[in-house]
Amino acid sequence: MDLGIEGKWALVCAASKGLGKGCAAALVREGVNVVITARGDEALQATAAELRALNPAVTVKALAGDITTPEGRGAALAACPQVDILVNNAGGPPPGDFRDWDREAWIKAVDANMLTPIELIKATVDKMAERGFGRVVNITSGAVKAPIDVLGLSNGARSGLTGFVAGLARQSKLAAANVTVNNLLPGVFDTDRVRNTSVGTAAKLGKTVEEVLAQRRATIPAKRFGTADEFGAFCAFLCSAQAGYLTGQNILLDGGAYPGTF
Ligand code: NAP
Repeated sequence: MDLGIEGKWALVCAASKGLGKGCAAALVREGVNVVITARGDEALQATAAELRALNPAVTVKALAGDITTPEGRGAALAACPQVDILVNNAGGPPPGDFRDWDREAWIKAVDANMLTPIELIKATVDKMAERGFGRVVNITSGAVKAPIDVLGLSNGARSGLTGFVAGLARQSKLAAANVTVNNLLPGVFDTDRVRNTSVGTAAKLGKTVEEVLAQRRATIPAKRFGTADEFGAFCAFLCSAQAGYLTGQNILLDGGAYPGTF
């Protein structure tokens, strides 16, 4: 299926690894030019080289910087000739107990997982509307639908973004101008983050990381983790010309892990 987005420009935040990289790769395969960001330049440049090899016809710009800072956002936006597609992503907050989190910890989580995407949306959607095409995809988390106790910072900050997006996406100024805003909610995907967070759990339980990962897989009806490529392909479809009537939605990709009917 031709997704009808060849030649568009996308800003894909936090994309040197994992889900962001999967989204960038899927868009590049569709002929979309991309600006990708991450804090670490080495992994970012390596990813940029991989993306260029995937489709030599597109332009891939790689900009090192922290997307949760005004400077990082400003530089990322300046590198993108026009943002037709915005994929919002950043690192997730650490796990823990809310009794241990001070104001600083909350502000950091809200900054990264709520206010950063809102700032980037603010900087781009009106121009998308003027051009009559725009796609915003926010990578949030399955924790928005089914909260995870130890991820209270994520549950809270991402739910704030979700509430904001629900109102924004329904503004006629955007929806009637072919600008859609949707959230993609990952369940468990096989990325560095999932492996890294399992290291602590393994140490606590006196198990190997592989044992912890196997236990997690066993709780998912699909009996496996998702892949970044699967996630990226779904993101690319949300960004397609064909997905123009889909807005304000929260789409869970979790191998059947969420147990509810809706
Ligand atoms: P990952 O494999 O650790 O990759 C994170 C990417 O984001 C890296 O490229 C990282 O590069 C970049 N990054 C992190 N903080 C950044 C910042 N402040 N500015 C710019 N780039 C930044 O993580 P992932 O698994 O793909 O997760 C992506 C998001 O989805 C996270 O918010 C995570 O909480 C959420 N999520 C993931 C899962 C899952 O199963 N994987 C499930 C639910 C939610 P640098 O470190 O070099 O900056």
